[in-house]
Amino acid sequence: MKPSTKTAQSNGHAHRRFAAGMVATALLGLPGVAGAHDLHLDPAATVDLQTDAAEPEDSSNTWSDLVRDLPDDIYSLIASALVGPADAIGNATITERGNYRYIRSNGLPNHATGRFPNSGNPNAISAQSYNFRVPLNPRKKSSATEAGRYLTGVAVNGVPIDPGTAEYFGGRGSPWREEAITASGQGKLGLDSSNAHVQPNGAYHYHGVPRGLIATLGGSKLIGYAADGFPIYYTGQKSSYRLKSGSRPSGAGSPGGTYDGTYGADYAYVGGTLDQCNGTTSKTAEYPDGTYHYVVTTNYPFFPRCFMGTPDSSFRVARAPTRRGAAQQGQRPGPRQGGPRPLRRPPPRT
Ligand SMILES: [Zn+2]
Repeated sequence: MKPSTKTAQSNGHAHRRFAAGMVATALLGLPGVAGAHDLHLDPAATVDLQTDAAEPEDSSNTWSDLVRDLPDDIYSLIASALVGPADAIGNATITERGNYRYIRSNGLPNHATGRFPNSGNPNAISAQSYNFRVPLNPRKKSSATEAGRYLTGVAVNGVPIDPGTAEYFGGRGSPWREEAITASGQGKLGLDSSNAHVQPNGAYHYHGVPRGLIATLGGSKLIGYAADGFPIYYTGQKSSYRLKSGSRPSGAGSPGGTYDGTYGADYAYVGGTLDQCNGTTSKTAEYPDGTYHYVVTTNYPFFPRCFMGTPDSSFRVARAPTRRGAAQQGQRPGPRQGGPRPLRRPPPRT
């Protein structure tokens, strides 16, 4: 299946949420996402700019097209109302308590983003309610654990790090899992210049080097924390993976063709400075005595796909929805009002 087809069919509700959040925010003159978040907008009821109440089978003439066709200045106006000035939305709070570090955020980036929806990603950014937890003193194990259903981690601005996709050749469970960042260039899944895009439920997340975030760090190289508690740095190092040479196997169950980076399985770990989880041990500014840590690289795997520690359950991802389920996700009620927030599982991934 083509990812673009899938996402186009699953995002009708996301369009309307986008409309509700953006239009209400712009009209009310609220100072940014925090305000929109507090509105507890009902995405289905507030604004419906589609002419037909039924979900469009054809993605033409939808709200996403309307947004895409807006003049740049109008789009920027609405987007800035939604996302806010860069330094006004860094609402992530990172606190240390007991044996844990807690990262709470609304998931909105503290930097400009690309246009969402766009032709490769039909979803609009919306506020989430994250409450992640990582051990303060993670312990490195003797062998790696595949990330599986865990997010890789969370950035210091509260945006999830989730390099895997939900797209496979031959269906889920196939070894041929598609990569969001390919050798032929970005854009297939609508990534922006921070190598990020948006889930059907509005969750903005990083697949690769978060350039917008890095620009805000003032020289610090600490990008975030992996789900197992080890820090993630941007150091300029290269990973120890390389494209395999030659062609993929032929026959049933294989996409065929040459190893070009379309799939994670197109790469092989060849050894080098970084281990198979993109990790290494050295002294860092935050850990002057040295620590095991991960590195975000400009080449595969970009962010680690495995852990050398034990991931915390707050990073476990809900089972990926069916196509219908993805569409229904947009109908979930808004954020809880009042009361303590439970540890919330991150959304299914795209
Ligand atoms: Zn993604």
